[in-house]
Amino acid sequence: MSKITLGIIGGGQLGSMLSVAAKRLNIRTIIYCNDQKAPAQNFCNEFIFASYENKEMLHDFAKKVDIITYEFENIPFETLNELNKLKTVLPKPSVNRLIQHRLAEKDFINKLNIRTTRYVHIENKEDLLTLEDFLPGILKTTTMGYDGKGQYPIQNLDEIESLNIDFNNEYILEKLVKLKKEISVIVTRFNNNKYEVYEPIENSHENQILKHSKIPADINKKNFQQSKDWAIMISEKLKYVGTLCVEFFIDRNENLYVNEIAPRVHNSGHLTLNAYNISQFENHVRAVCSMEQIPLKKLSNAEMINLIGDQIIPYRNNPKLNDNQFLFDYLKKDIKEKRKMGHLTTLK
Ligand code: ADP
Ligand code: MG
Repeated sequence: MSKITLGIIGGGQLGSMLSVAAKRLNIRTIIYCNDQKAPAQNFCNEFIFASYENKEMLHDFAKKVDIITYEFENIPFETLNELNKLKTVLPKPSVNRLIQHRLAEKDFINKLNIRTTRYVHIENKEDLLTLEDFLPGILKTTTMGYDGKGQYPIQNLDEIESLNIDFNNEYILEKLVKLKKEISVIVTRFNNNKYEVYEPIENSHENQILKHSKIPADINKKNFQQSKDWAIMISEKLKYVGTLCVEFFIDRNENLYVNEIAPRVHNSGHLTLNAYNISQFENHVRAVCSMEQIPLKKLSNAEMINLIGDQIIPYRNNPKLNDNQFLFDYLKKDIKEKRKMGHLTTLK
């Protein structure tokens, strides 16, 4: 029997959970990561530690696998492009390039007539000083941001001097939305316009890091349907293959906005591991490996909390769990503040 080998770029917890899902489908995984301590090496079949610029190692990796995917979006485009010459990379490198640039991403979404926050491109300090209309707002680097990194909340123009903004970077300035809620929709698109979509997930953040996710989301019917429709529209337009997450804002007037797209499995979808017949990870593997699509079935309502930094310690020492609770320890050796160390899902 020929066995598929899936190459995964990135070795964090998302890579771990993709590997576990692949193993269940009888697929081998090789993880390529530039972090020698990457936790996913505990879960994959083979681990390659090398930089994303090392062409020789990238070539060796490509030779060993049948298909390549990735678990985070901040991968140099050149790396994905190089690999794609040797083996199919899914989602396509061009999708990743678009989404990893906040300005290109937001322009793309607006062209689909989908609402986003108001935003403007900022190339230097002078640009910023004329844009009072966008304040209060958040200045965000156009590339490489995650978990609120590279972001400066700005209330008024007087603050700009004291923020020590590094104008060697490019930014967008986004008008602050008066948030009522944040939700996300996860969709897996298979080849040929087929997809599976999970119901909207309600999310809450602490210090711009996801803390808590639950289904069902407490939202009105219109936003329930609109968020799913928009997520499907985005995945269609991108001709996406794999699992994708769209993050949304809902303001105090119940207006829905797309915040951003993640071209990968997503933290808010961890509850799909226990609350659905097929998780976001398994669906991603099924889609990129052209395997059978199985209709999604929700099994239960659920809540997930992220265990950040030393919040993992009591669970590691003495996990007292009920039958409806599921603990995931990412097996990261170094406990750091603001680092996602694990999560706990409770079925309701
Ligand atoms: P990241 O790429 O770091 O996830 P996001 O753009 O998703 O960046 O911002 C992280 C969080 O910051 C959001 O989930 C939201 O809570 C808050 N935030 C970001 N932009 C805005 C905005 N324009 N209005 C209100 N809240 C925002
Ligand atoms: Mg985000």
